[in-house]
Amino acid sequence: MIVLDRLTLAPGLVLLVVDDGDGLPRPVPWLVDGDRRATSGEGAATALVALLGGGSRALGPFRVTTWHHETVAGERSFGVDQTNESVVVGEKAVVKWLRAAEPGPHPAPSVLDALQRHRFDGMPTPWGLLEWSAPGDAAPRLLATVDSLLSGAVDGWTWTVGDLRSAVLDESYDGVRETGRRLGDLVGRMHAALAEDGVSAATADDLAAWEAGADRDLEQALAATTGDTHDLLARRAVALRAETRAPAHALGTPLIRVHGDLHVGQVLRRGTGADATYVVTDFDGNPVVPTAERLLPQPPALDVAGLAQSIKHAALVLRRHEPHHDLATVTAAAEAAEDAFLTSYAVTVATAGHPRLVQPALVRAFRLRQVCREFSYAAAHLPRWFYVPEAALPALLPLPEEKP
Ligand code: ADP
Ligand code: MG
Ligand code: MG
Repeated sequence: MIVLDRLTLAPGLVLLVVDDGDGLPRPVPWLVDGDRRATSGEGAATALVALLGGGSRALGPFRVTTWHHETVAGERSFGVDQTNESVVVGEKAVVKWLRAAEPGPHPAPSVLDALQRHRFDGMPTPWGLLEWSAPGDAAPRLLATVDSLLSGAVDGWTWTVGDLRSAVLDESYDGVRETGRRLGDLVGRMHAALAEDGVSAATADDLAAWEAGADRDLEQALAATTGDTHDLLARRAVALRAETRAPAHALGTPLIRVHGDLHVGQVLRRGTGADATYVVTDFDGNPVVPTAERLLPQPPALDVAGLAQSIKHAALVLRRHEPHHDLATVTAAAEAAEDAFLTSYAVTVATAGHPRLVQPALVRAFRLRQVCREFSYAAAHLPRWFYVPEAALPALLPLPEEKP
């Protein structure tokens, strides 16, 4: 482990930026006396929140950005599935230490800044950031983010599955329609806020890049799979390629900054029904795309497809764990939620003055790409997730002999 830099957080606590030999710097909270990594509970996250109290400033190669600050103490770890390490401080703030300090610019600082400038309130209040520049870096690297804790919040994979189960058991889709409406309002307001910073028009190069991206997603999925799973994909390769070509009329379609990694797991909910609060989290963008590319304007349909398709995936999760539910009913409940989501999204962006953000003709291609990525994700990180794309792909793209 080579120590590239160090920032004093508090007496006895430093933040090291280290290189473990792979050339990718990592932030590591460090206990000076113990000469070891500080674990959550030992004060490093609390000290970072305290550092925000001094306001936005440079500390050598480190840079603190403060948007909001409160004095808080006492920390605990989250204990949920996560890519990065998040720590709750004083039951008020969440410090997320990034797993790696990838070359900047990272999408989160600018997207959080834009959303705050345009008064988007559907996210945890951002408190601040810590960035660091290596010698020769053109842009700072993100090390940590701090935002407000939504206490009592439930993860989207949990509440979506729960809503679908209730819809099936109660034989009523009113609840999932309400959820879909709230999601459409949330994503629509987020996109309308991001569109305030400028809307560009897709060029022929952009269209070619989407097609190349779709081909790459398919190639990666094919390369990552074997046996029946691979066959399932391979038999649809021609159709997948055809259905992910950009329509000629997409030339000039609006592009904006997007979330980039939107699925129900990124939406936290507190409460139920009409009184529920929904917030979007995790503005790190698509983790499989290099950081700087994640800042490029994209069709808003990318986020819309990501969220809509994840509702379908939640329906598959429900059926997997509770196979006694009737497949057609579970699917119909997911479709009721999706329809309400798409309708409310369209109404929200139109009301905000951005009707052209609605791009129904682009959603399907991004859904198909999303499913291809789920194969690669399952192969790389979570083999027990394979059943989701294995069921989602034939549902979206049945072969002629499978059509009813
Ligand atoms: P990662 O990039 O590691 O996926 P996220 O930002 O998505 O990190 O956070 C991981 C999980 O931590 C979320 O799914 C959620 O359960 C919880 N979480 C994150 N931020 C908050 C918050 N502000 N309030 C409550 N829970 C949060
Ligand atoms: Mg993330
Ligand atoms: Mg996340």
